[in-house]
Amino acid sequence: MLSIHNLIKIYAGPVNALQGVTLNIGEGLFGLLGPNGAGKSTLMNTVAGLLEPTSGSITLDGADIVKDPRIVRRQLGYLPQDFGFFPDLTGLRMLELMLKLKGVDGPGGRRKIAQALLERVNLSHAAKRKVSGYSGGMRQRLGLAQAIAGNPRLVIVDEPTAGLDPEERHRFYRLLAELAKNRIILLSTHIVEDVATLCPRMAVIQGGRVVADTTPRAARAAIDGHMFEGFIPDDQLDEFSKHHSVTSAILSEGSTNRVRVHSADANAAPAGFASSLATLEDAYLVAILTSRSAQLAAINSTGAAA
Ligand code: ADP
Repeated sequence: MLSIHNLIKIYAGPVNALQGVTLNIGEGLFGLLGPNGAGKSTLMNTVAGLLEPTSGSITLDGADIVKDPRIVRRQLGYLPQDFGFFPDLTGLRMLELMLKLKGVDGPGGRRKIAQALLERVNLSHAAKRKVSGYSGGMRQRLGLAQAIAGNPRLVIVDEPTAGLDPEERHRFYRLLAELAKNRIILLSTHIVEDVATLCPRMAVIQGGRVVADTTPRAARAAIDGHMFEGFIPDDQLDEFSKHHSVTSAILSEGSTNRVRVHSADANAAPAGFASSLATLEDAYLVAILTSRSAQLAAINSTGAAA
């Protein structure tokens, strides 16, 4: 179990990047969703022992990661957002080098471990090719191979599918799901589909706070009966959005929008709108919109009191 308790991170500025994050994460894939700037990377980097929190605690199976970062180095694999590659090396050489840097070795030598890892991520066929010729998906799989080297208890993957085409994305999903069988995988992303496809549990983070800690199914169920869909002409969309909680507006035929709306009152659909099944994307956006308006209300009431 990865237990994060009341984690606070304040950068110089000051920037309150994490404002008391508490999460308990068991085995399997856990999705961390949030818009850009929400604090996901700060949280990942802090759990990975690369950043020191301002306060709060993180334990992995009871061991304190913050007090003893050596634990995390032994038990953690990390695929960061900007994973650096040496383009002139072959995949096999690159992986051997990563194993050396990580201090991973075994009786058969590093080459053998690297070959087994490449097999695990379906890259054996490209072992002798230069990394510069790898596709985005192949690079991500190579990154994952180094992350799982040494069989860590916890693997962190930060925005792994950004920039991958649909086929590569699904191949990467299958691999992640397989690797999550007996370890904790923490998947940080702003792509809702990643979480909908992969994660039995998820949290939404916004403005450095956890605004939802749930399952994709429960998140959808919570807004079921409250989602409506209809069409709004493009020149009326801005005005419409001022009065309704719009979760998506997709331009259709150039002049009209197919609009999805969340209504707290299930009997108050906008005129001409029909009830629609809730998606995880809706649930995610409703969590973000609700927390933003709560934050705005808090700012306004502080302003009014001052
Ligand atoms: P996300 O990964 O969700 O996009 P980040 O964790 O990168 O969010 O950023 C959270 C907040 O902290 C943002 O406001 C960002 O601008 C700020 N931030 C991130 N890194 C630093 C830093 N090194 N110094 C100051 N502010 C930072």
